Amino acid sequence: MHKTTAPLPANVDPCDEPGHGHGVLRLDEARARILDAVHPVEGAESVALRDALGRVLSEPVRSTVDVPAHDNSAMDGFALAGSDLPAGGDKAFRVIGTSWAGRPFEGAVSGGECVRIMTGATLPQGVDTIVMQEHVRREGEIAVITAGHRPGQHRRLAGEDIRAGDVALPAGTRLMPAHLGLVASIGVGRVAVRRRPRVAIFSTGDELRGIGEELGEGQIYDSNRYSLHGMVTRLGLEVLDLGVVRDLRDDTQRAFEQAAANADAIVTSGGVSVGEADYVVETLEKYGQVGFWKVAMKPGKPIAFGHVGKALFFGLPGNPVSVMATFYQLVQPALRKLTGDAAADLPVLVKATCQSKLKKKAGRLEFQRGILERDGEGRYVVRAASHQGAGVLRSMTEGNCFIVLPLEQETVQPGNEVEVQPFAGLV
Ligand code: AMP
Ligand code: MG
Repeated sequence: MHKTTAPLPANVDPCDEPGHGHGVLRLDEARARILDAVHPVEGAESVALRDALGRVLSEPVRSTVDVPAHDNSAMDGFALAGSDLPAGGDKAFRVIGTSWAGRPFEGAVSGGECVRIMTGATLPQGVDTIVMQEHVRREGEIAVITAGHRPGQHRRLAGEDIRAGDVALPAGTRLMPAHLGLVASIGVGRVAVRRRPRVAIFSTGDELRGIGEELGEGQIYDSNRYSLHGMVTRLGLEVLDLGVVRDLRDDTQRAFEQAAANADAIVTSGGVSVGEADYVVETLEKYGQVGFWKVAMKPGKPIAFGHVGKALFFGLPGNPVSVMATFYQLVQPALRKLTGDAAADLPVLVKATCQSKLKKKAGRLEFQRGILERDGEGRYVVRAASHQGAGVLRSMTEGNCFIVLPLEQETVQPGNEVEVQPFAGLV
């Protein structure tokens, strides 16, 4: 008995291992094996902050400054010493000046005095407390303040956001808009990011034609390369599109060689079911270390995973919906890890009341396409998209979510609660 970890040599079926009863891998097992075999790309570059959106930090960003740099006001109001606040009743303070954001009041504030202060303005010497202007009665040069305020209120302390010397962002951070703002707030204009991985994609199948070509008997347009192009691009990786590869030995070998030599990962569609695409299997045996897996998910059962040369290889099924479902569930987390993104995979799931009857057998995890909405009371409700066939791409455009039906779930009745994964949260 042996224990196999991904990648597996060609033609070694992980499903034959003891413990995998029905010859099928659970989706979470497949995902874990894939993630185990993926390592972030080497190589980094320095980019200007605006060009860094979606990139992954290769080094931590450290701050050399305190943010905010000085104690300042969180409100428009009047600033005074907390020890000077009235214990009971009203107290009159003399207003001796104004502290503006960017134009501080230069003098010191003594007992019985206060300054008018704006949000973001530096606290003058002798001052630690702000009373909102709504709580102050102004009588010319006098500000009348009532009891009930807390010393130190509405003050932002220097270094409260970030301290000089702190790691503002750790390596492995994928930069989102908030990160760009934070980096700007410490006065840093360039960051070190990992090289953007390149993903080669191609489609296999004699029936496939490109846009602009005439369709003969039994031929269809290749759509998978376009959805793959979209999904890979949205993830922030570079696409190398190698087109449609005919079911011919030389073409297949050339495509794999070209892909492995020029890309960090290869994603293909079609030709991984049994009895199909002999040249794909033959080529993978020659150049790769690839296992053919049956994953207990629908759509998308057969997939191939491993390495071709140094490149990661994902052989996805041919059906257009299967391509998208397997990409989102298995390829996307792997490509994220490849970019160096250290964030945990956190799928966005929403509970909704199902309005349709959904036929389902126990034994596989299903990703049915649904239409998620909110009813009059703001509760999430979902209904099935009209055609659930794995080849019906319309279900992905008409729908706006996957209805995720767990492995052992059986038919869902209208009114039952289900979990859905909105497409908007996928990339
Ligand atoms: P396969 O996995 O190669 O047996 O393909 C399964 C189904 O998906 C067949 O109906 C194929 O015609 C279809 N298919 C395969 N590749 C593509 C593609 N690139 N674009 C659209 N449909 C495809
Ligand atoms: Mg095919």
